Amino acid sequence: MARSIHRSSYPPLALLLPIAAACAGALGAAEEEILCRCHHGALHARADHAAAPAKGEPAPRQYAPDRAVDMLHIKIDCTPDFARHSVRATTSLSFTPIARPLSTLRLDAVDLTVHSVSAEAAGAAVPVGDVVVARDSITVAFPEPIPPGREVTLHVDHSAEPRRGLYFRTPDMGYPAGDTHVWTQGESHEARHWFPCHDYPNEKCTTEMICHVPPAMTVLSNGRLVGEETDAATGLKAVRWLQDKPHVSYLVCLVAGHLAKLEGKHRDVPLAFWTQPSTAAVAANSFRDTPGIMAFFEEEIGVPFPWAKYDQVTIQDFVAGGMENTSLTTLTDQTLHEKATETLRSSRSLDAHEMAHQWFGDLVTCKDWSHLWLNEGFATYYSHLHASHLLGKDELLYGLWLDAENKILPNADDSRPIVFKGYRDPREQFDWRAYPKGSWILHMLRHTLGADLYRQAVRTYLARHAYGTVTSDDFRQVLEETSGRPLDRFFDQWLYHGRHPDLKIDYRWQPEEKLAHVTIRQTQPVSADVLLFAFPATFRFVLPDGTAVDRTVAVDGAAHEFDFALPAQPVLVRFDPEFTVLARVDFDLPEAMQLVQLERADDPIGRIRAVKALAGRKTRGAVERLGRVLREDPFRGVREQAAAALQGVGSDEALDELERSLDQPDARVRRRVVEALAGYYRPRVMERLVAVARDDANPAIRAEALEGLAKYGDPRARDAILDGLRSESFRQEVAAGAIAAIAAAHDDALLEALMRTVKARGDAFPPRVLARALETAGQLAGARSEKDTVREFLLAHTADQRLPVRSAALAALGELGDPRARPVLEGFAQLGADDRVGKVATEALEKLRQRQPAVPQEVKELRGELSRVAGEQRKLRDELEGIERRAKERAAAPAPPAASSPPAPAAP
Ligand SMILES: [Zn+2]
Repeated sequence: MARSIHRSSYPPLALLLPIAAACAGALGAAEEEILCRCHHGALHARADHAAAPAKGEPAPRQYAPDRAVDMLHIKIDCTPDFARHSVRATTSLSFTPIARPLSTLRLDAVDLTVHSVSAEAAGAAVPVGDVVVARDSITVAFPEPIPPGREVTLHVDHSAEPRRGLYFRTPDMGYPAGDTHVWTQGESHEARHWFPCHDYPNEKCTTEMICHVPPAMTVLSNGRLVGEETDAATGLKAVRWLQDKPHVSYLVCLVAGHLAKLEGKHRDVPLAFWTQPSTAAVAANSFRDTPGIMAFFEEEIGVPFPWAKYDQVTIQDFVAGGMENTSLTTLTDQTLHEKATETLRSSRSLDAHEMAHQWFGDLVTCKDWSHLWLNEGFATYYSHLHASHLLGKDELLYGLWLDAENKILPNADDSRPIVFKGYRDPREQFDWRAYPKGSWILHMLRHTLGADLYRQAVRTYLARHAYGTVTSDDFRQVLEETSGRPLDRFFDQWLYHGRHPDLKIDYRWQPEEKLAHVTIRQTQPVSADVLLFAFPATFRFVLPDGTAVDRTVAVDGAAHEFDFALPAQPVLVRFDPEFTVLARVDFDLPEAMQLVQLERADDPIGRIRAVKALAGRKTRGAVERLGRVLREDPFRGVREQAAAALQGVGSDEALDELERSLDQPDARVRRRVVEALAGYYRPRVMERLVAVARDDANPAIRAEALEGLAKYGDPRARDAILDGLRSESFRQEVAAGAIAAIAAAHDDALLEALMRTVKARGDAFPPRVLARALETAGQLAGARSEKDTVREFLLAHTADQRLPVRSAALAALGELGDPRARPVLEGFAQLGADDRVGKVATEALEKLRQRQPAVPQEVKELRGELSRVAGEQRKLRDELEGIERRAKERAAAPAPPAASSPPAPAAP
């Protein structure tokens, strides 16, 4: 699965929502209904309860569940009801018991209504006993236990209005009528929300999908199309797909609805790209790389594409970026783009990521979620490898550099290993460890073994485990067999322990001995969770005549010193020139060496490091040099980093260099320059941004310029933002930039304009842009004392059934902080934390509570103080009365004999 696509400066809320279903184990057993079969076949229910794990307990260790049966085949015969958003289905599961006679079979199934259950074997009925339908499972009893090896087919007739797993996109929800469709999403544990199965990746079987839809609709599923016929009685078309190769439940996929098609072919593999009809015009931009990616992967991986065909289909308001169902990848419709966005929008890396999964994740699948990197690390790395193949090796290295700098190294405080069993919910595993760090693991292995041996090992790994499940050790064993090298230490430090090395490197030239003296220290905090790392370290010494001398040494301790004999004093010392060690490197070089490093044409990472070092110098000479790099460096990644560096310098000279460099042929660099300019606050920058927002042909760059105008209160900046808000562009990308600017500007007049625009033409906004507008309104109006208008505006959108819009409206009500929204939020919060909308509503209520004025707490404290004082006063009064009483009693009583009387108590 690919994570959501969004820019960091503009994260639409809905894209940040959880991707996968909660793990049933973590939820605990919920209320159960026990259904018993009566003579007439009706089902009765009774309630039962079981305790959920208490909050605050340590997370349980997660392992794959037992398999009581070997699942052979699942046939789903279903009819989606587009009006009721429900699905009726008969799921037939064929299996043989493993090892023991089977007296009960438990299947994962959440909130399914079960109408009937029957079983058969070789055409004869098999008796079925009690059927227990719980909130998250169906358990079927067999009064005559089924012996191991005997094949039985269980038919479960069921219906559901799934809250997960299967999603409708219909006109009554606010989607265009011509785009009506339904789609499913299985990973991690969502299949069980619409059909019963062993819903965990340690089970694979073949599957079959029969789906009944109106004749004008298209049905897509896994495997190959085997039949299509219209039923005269219902008028519905039944489309039958067969996946005759085993795969796991989370890869079972159905997409049905109105779809437009583009076709292609690679060898004899049919390729197709499907979109909603309303976006068909731009579909080709996202499909163009697919045949080339498949050809490259077959060559690089050495295993033919393992499935009958390859369909990609966009779906609306997907909860992720893409999902690699076998032979049918679903993609967010956000990936569609116009050519006008140049290099800023591309489906290439998403396309490559999901297609790589067809081998890594689909052909071989992680046995449990602790080994998720075997899916996601491979998909991430092979997308980089394809970039390298298509665009040059610099792209591979830059991709790895961005992953390291932005996603891995900032997590220095997190020592969780990649292979980790202490998660509460599988979705926690879909993070920087499985994706970019997993990709880096493969990059280091490929370097350690060499590309040819590595390729051979991967081919063997896939061949040995084809259509099976794998653990990290399965991969290690193949690597060891292929290379003859034990990799226990490599796997131990990188996979089973956390973090990465921090390296402090120092260099000194010793002229009399002609020795380069190098010290290298590992400075990461070493603990039970983080080891000292062992890795080969290469130093490249560039001599005055331009020749390069490489020396590789083994590093495995906390500190090492090395002396390298060289013919002459080097003009450059470069650590890890091939970029094959994942580490935070602190190696301070003299400026003269940085300048040499900037000239090394074969070393983009070295040039980026030099750019960063020069930016730290902030001298006039360094700034001029950075300007030249920004205009002249052959690689776009180095130019992007030069723009960022000039932004960081912050001087007028650096601004001059940026203004001089706006004419960039690559839109990615042009946008970075605009972003860097926007980092300055100068009237002339404002004018420049106004011009870009008005004139640039690229809507994404216009949007960037608008965001940069947020901090100028000037009427020209405000006019440009309003023009952007009113403009028309594909997916309203420019308007989205204007909304981001309004969010940053904190200008009440702009907020009014935003609400007017949404009221007038919010229907033309894609759900995510509309969502952003609502969030902005909530945030900006939070500081207002008069909240009625905005509250009503937001409440109206809570009726919108599109997940991003409704979620944004609820979240915005939390930001607004108006207690009168509480009843509506409480209503949605009742959906529960497991429901996406319920979770947002609960968080909004919490925000509302936090935003309550401080007075009630003070009053509470005052009340406490008052009651304490009153209590003390009461006590004093009681004591006083007691004394008075005793004094009176003493006065009234006759005096005792003097000799035996105890001393009278002293008055207090
Ligand atoms: Zn993925």
